[in-house]
Amino acid sequence: MKIQYRNIKTGEIPGMDLTMPYLVIGKGKPIVSLLSGVHGGEESGLLIIKNLLDALKSEKITGTLKIIPSCNVVAQAFKTRVVNGFDYADLNRSFPGKKQGNYTQQVAAKIFSLVKDSDCVLDLHTFTMISPLIGILTKSADQQKDDRALTILRSMNLDLIWLLETKVLASSYLGTLGDAFSGLKGTYLCLETPNIYRLTPEELTRSTKGIVNLLKQYGIIQNGFVKTKSKEIPVVKRIDQKSESGGLFVPLKGYMQQVKKGDLIGEIYFLKDFKPKDVKATYSGLIMMIRSKSLISSGDKIIAYGQDVV
Ligand SMILES: [Zn+2]
Repeated sequence: MKIQYRNIKTGEIPGMDLTMPYLVIGKGKPIVSLLSGVHGGEESGLLIIKNLLDALKSEKITGTLKIIPSCNVVAQAFKTRVVNGFDYADLNRSFPGKKQGNYTQQVAAKIFSLVKDSDCVLDLHTFTMISPLIGILTKSADQQKDDRALTILRSMNLDLIWLLETKVLASSYLGTLGDAFSGLKGTYLCLETPNIYRLTPEELTRSTKGIVNLLKQYGIIQNGFVKTKSKEIPVVKRIDQKSESGGLFVPLKGYMQQVKKGDLIGEIYFLKDFKPKDVKATYSGLIMMIRSKSLISSGDKIIAYGQDVV
């Protein structure tokens, strides 16, 4: 496997070019692109890419595998979601980008032009809350394309699949890369893992093998298909619960537990008297993720429920 190491210029600050690394393996079709670091504080993708490159060492690559490990170098330097010090924009709400837009829109436009010819883009993200391995499919207008994408996600041996719709009223997911990709021929998928401090060796191995399965199914590699367990992976839509109060939050439930509206899911201790206040579930569903014990304020997300897609 021969890797071409390139650098893509994403912008300039006085006296210095801003660049991002870009790895290309192979040539021609099919094309699969692997992205990480769209949000600067999310580092698990780098570990997964490192493991994947090790796993692919002896593989013959057919077509092209493009890897952009640090999509958002400035945010990565500050370990933040938005681009601090520049425009405070979220790269994953800036797609497909603008050549003469603000800095983040310009970065988005460069990334979009690098990956838009892909048969599949797999974007690696992490959740702040405690979560299992979650695959995301952003729904497009093409049902056949989505069905195939769902089959591929199912083969990745993840714990949960989140079916995300961006073309709904007041969607907060407009401008995501998945949204920008929904009108294209290729498929956009996302793999959300726990953050790098929480990612277990088992989850790291399963994520890497999951990507190997994806590459095999797109014909990028011929070997290495890892048979998955025949368990049924729930496919859900997501609904969030935000906190009304602030204080020290202690969760009393874990992810992948089924809860009913009204169930006790945690406690909040006010800092003035350390008396606990019950936090009850405002929805019924499967816990996709729940906030770890931490300080929270009014409006912070504390739990995300997965509800069955009918
Ligand atoms: Zn993210």
